[in-house]
Amino acid sequence: MDTIVVGAGVAGLTAARLLHAAGQRVVVLEARDRVGGRVWTDRTAGFAVDRGASWIHGLTGNPLTGIVAELGMATHEFTVGSFQAGGRPIADLDESRRPFDAAATRGWHADVATADGLLQKVVADSGPGESYAAVTERALAATGWAPERADRLRVFYRHRTEEQCGAEIGQVAAHGLDEDAIEGDEVIFPDGYDALPQALAQGLDVRLGTTVTAIARSAAGVRVETADGAFEAAQVIVTVPLGVLKAGAIAFEPALPASVAGPIDRLGMGVFNKVFLRFPERFWEDGVYAIRQHGRAGVPWHSWYDVSAVSGEPMLLTFAGGAWGREIEQLTDEQVAASALAPLREAYGPAVPEPVGHWITRWAADPFALGSYSYVPVGSCLEDHDALAGPVDGVLHFAGEATSGDEPATVHGALMSGHRAAERVLGAAVPLAGLTRGVRAEG
Ligand SMILES: Cc1cc2nc3c(=O)[nH]c(=O)nc-3n(C[C@H](O)[C@H](O)[C@H](O)COP(=O)(O)OP(=O)(O)OC[C@H]3O[C@@H](n4cnc5c(N)ncnc54)[C@H](O)[C@@H]3O)c2cc1C
Repeated sequence: MDTIVVGAGVAGLTAARLLHAAGQRVVVLEARDRVGGRVWTDRTAGFAVDRGASWIHGLTGNPLTGIVAELGMATHEFTVGSFQAGGRPIADLDESRRPFDAAATRGWHADVATADGLLQKVVADSGPGESYAAVTERALAATGWAPERADRLRVFYRHRTEEQCGAEIGQVAAHGLDEDAIEGDEVIFPDGYDALPQALAQGLDVRLGTTVTAIARSAAGVRVETADGAFEAAQVIVTVPLGVLKAGAIAFEPALPASVAGPIDRLGMGVFNKVFLRFPERFWEDGVYAIRQHGRAGVPWHSWYDVSAVSGEPMLLTFAGGAWGREIEQLTDEQVAASALAPLREAYGPAVPEPVGHWITRWAADPFALGSYSYVPVGSCLEDHDALAGPVDGVLHFAGEATSGDEPATVHGALMSGHRAAERVLGAAVPLAGLTRGVRAEG
């Protein structure tokens, strides 16, 4: 065997596919009984519900844009996937759960633009060890706004951090959202995002249900231990999520050097869970991308995204990130659904119908993820992402979203990290264009 790839998510499949196309003998070892990892489409109800990733975050300059087009995957424009305040119609609700009028909406967009402008400068001037909470407070102080006006922004920043990082605003480093800018529109996948990993897996030797427990390396190569026996190869690419690495679920022999162990320790694994509620009929405004509750009334539930166009059913999707995301994992599905519904009844009236279906994720409890995606906590830095990739002793490589300094916590970051790992294994540049040769999405 030339290369073993651990993990059949987008990073692992991208690396394996490129190596295979370059003539290598490659095997992919995957603990789950499916490919895709954190791209996971649930079709039990007869339509696609993406329990992991939903969006391409920014089509412009994104390698995924061309890849999903080549695969023939249907897309639906949905440019609110990055906690935007405006740009697309949002049903904003004030602190008393009343809809914003046109002037309030304009004022809100202007306030976000003003505060974001100040924030950018404050972040650029921030010192090491400062949190995103500290810089947002400085930016808000610089606005000179009355307390209620500033507080609306404060809550918005808190929720933006919980959604984008899966962590609390006080935990995230001042620079922790630097890589968050979205270039161009965003899209989601009416037929499910998993068509991407399924297409990438076509023709590869993927061993499902194969959990890796240990990896030994030497000058001669690597030995990868699983419950079903050992595999040997010249090199290995490990793409398991950061949560799995942090938990020490794979024993490395000899131990990882500080150049890689340090980033594993310092980077954080955030938690971000999804709650889909399907209704018998629509009770909210037509033509809005999302309903957003502002101010303290938006704690803990604040944003409900209208994903009806994806399922063809009246459906809202809300999120629980950070501490709240961990907390809901301890509740029953019925408790979570009832809790997410209560503020909608307060805003839209008691006639809001009972949901006829719900889908609730628990990514922190998932043993092969142990969280949703990586973030940069206070005490870490964006450079830790790329440092995590290694290589170690020329034979051990890491890939996956957490190793992408440019685009962490995304599917395209995972894809680009797999591309980089394949090039490092080959010691040569390989064009990403070869990735989709000969395959099309099924569905
Ligand atoms: C709820 C949620 C929503 C998201 N939304 C978006 C979004 O809208 N847009 C976006 O761009 N990104 C989104 N993301 C992030 C995106 O899903 C990930 O960044 C990306 O899918 C990660 O791919 P990966 O290959 O790095 O890791 P993974 O997909 O996690 O692949 C790693 C694989 O390793 C396997 N594995 C783990 N342990 C072992 C072991 N011991 N042995 C063998 N195999 C093992 C896992 O089962 C998994 O299949 C979201 C993530 C979550 C959780």
